[in-house]
Amino acid sequence: MRIIVIGAGIGGLAAALTLRRAGLDVDVFEQATELREVGAGIQISPNASRILRRLGLEEPMSRLGVRPHAVVFRRWDDGRELARQPLADACERNFGAPYYHFHRADLLDLLRAAIPAGVLHLEHRCVGLTQHNDRVEVQFHNGATADADVVVGADGIHSTVRKVIMGPESPRFSGHVAYRGLVPADRVKHLGIEIAAMAWWGPGHHFVHYYVGAGARYHNWVAVTPGEWRVESWTAKGEVADALAEFEGWHPQVRAIIGSVETTNRWALYDRDELARWTVGRVTLMGDAAHPMLPYMAQGAVQSIEDAAVLAKCLEHADARDVAPALLRYEQTRKPRTSRCQEGSRRNGVMYHLPDGADQKKRDSSLASSATAPLPQNAWLYGHDVEAEFEQS
Ligand SMILES: Cc1cc2nc3c(=O)[nH]c(=O)nc-3n(C[C@H](O)[C@H](O)[C@H](O)COP(=O)(O)OP(=O)(O)OC[C@H]3O[C@@H](n4cnc5c(N)ncnc54)[C@H](O)[C@@H]3O)c2cc1C
Repeated sequence: MRIIVIGAGIGGLAAALTLRRAGLDVDVFEQATELREVGAGIQISPNASRILRRLGLEEPMSRLGVRPHAVVFRRWDDGRELARQPLADACERNFGAPYYHFHRADLLDLLRAAIPAGVLHLEHRCVGLTQHNDRVEVQFHNGATADADVVVGADGIHSTVRKVIMGPESPRFSGHVAYRGLVPADRVKHLGIEIAAMAWWGPGHHFVHYYVGAGARYHNWVAVTPGEWRVESWTAKGEVADALAEFEGWHPQVRAIIGSVETTNRWALYDRDELARWTVGRVTLMGDAAHPMLPYMAQGAVQSIEDAAVLAKCLEHADARDVAPALLRYEQTRKPRTSRCQEGSRRNGVMYHLPDGADQKKRDSSLASSATAPLPQNAWLYGHDVEAEFEQS
């Protein structure tokens, strides 16, 4: 069984590792000349960290990741704590694996470091695919071609593989924009910010911040605001002054954190319906290419790691001459869960941004009453072991 993965993001690299562990022959083709992630943080919940642990990545994860001791929800104007749910040891106890905050570059590096030389091919942008009965041919922008029994599109939100097999898509602009900032932790030391996942909710906006990098070296924030900016790319610069203007009247702590950066990036948030299917012939999709979601559950990359784990289980004993049953099983196992995350993220976008009033009060009191367990509202998500589930099915 020979497999080609298109795209070396978090999903594509995780797939290279799970597929290799299953004894399969894998090549990953990436368009970029070097592997680079944006200077930003990423939250990795236990449903993915347990998969990465089993891939032997516990040591680099615990060295490079930050383990928040709690998730803390606060009110936008007076900073009142709405709820505090324990993470760290409580998370391990409840879900059997840690909750991590990473610098994205560290996470990408630790995945890449586990992949042997010769598997990853940079400067190969997939521009086309041709399906044959017994194989798929992939064409690259540089004139090169490669053949495989299965091709996996892990090429992100603007996936070429998805376009080739499914046709064009029609994303809907959500009316929200995410600004991001990252600074050395020393810059915000005077604010006494705890090592936790901090989430502030307010009318039409929310603000999330946490430490990343070995020894909590950096402080990272994401600010979601209404906006008309329509470019869905992290390379787009934003103005710190615009982000600050959006948080006029918010608690001074939020404004001080935004003001601690000199530059900010912004990303237009688009929403997309779930795809009817992910697989055509010998080609399938994973990660953002298959199930792009709004970032309000912090599950996009986590779900791509789950995809990688299940895909490898499905292909491990598959017949290279007839891959359809294995790919169908992969898609059928994964779709209900990723669709639930897409839907949950959409709902959170409404819930986080409620205007002050009756609904907001109801939300706050129900949150306060659930404060003793680690993220109980996400137990179905964090407590689920996709690999163990597969073995039992
Ligand atoms: C504001 C924000 C905050 C987020 N926070 C979190 C979080 O805390 N936790 C979480 O789990 N998720 C989070 N996400 C989502 C997460 O970033 C994505 O879901 C995740 O990075 C998707 O990984 P991927 O590997 O599928 O795609 P990508 O990371 O986009 O990787 C795709 C790769 O494919 C390559 N590529 C593209 N086209 C081609 C081609 N034609 N040929 C070859 N290579 C190609 C690209 O260069 C890239 O390297 C957040 C997203 C946003 C917008």
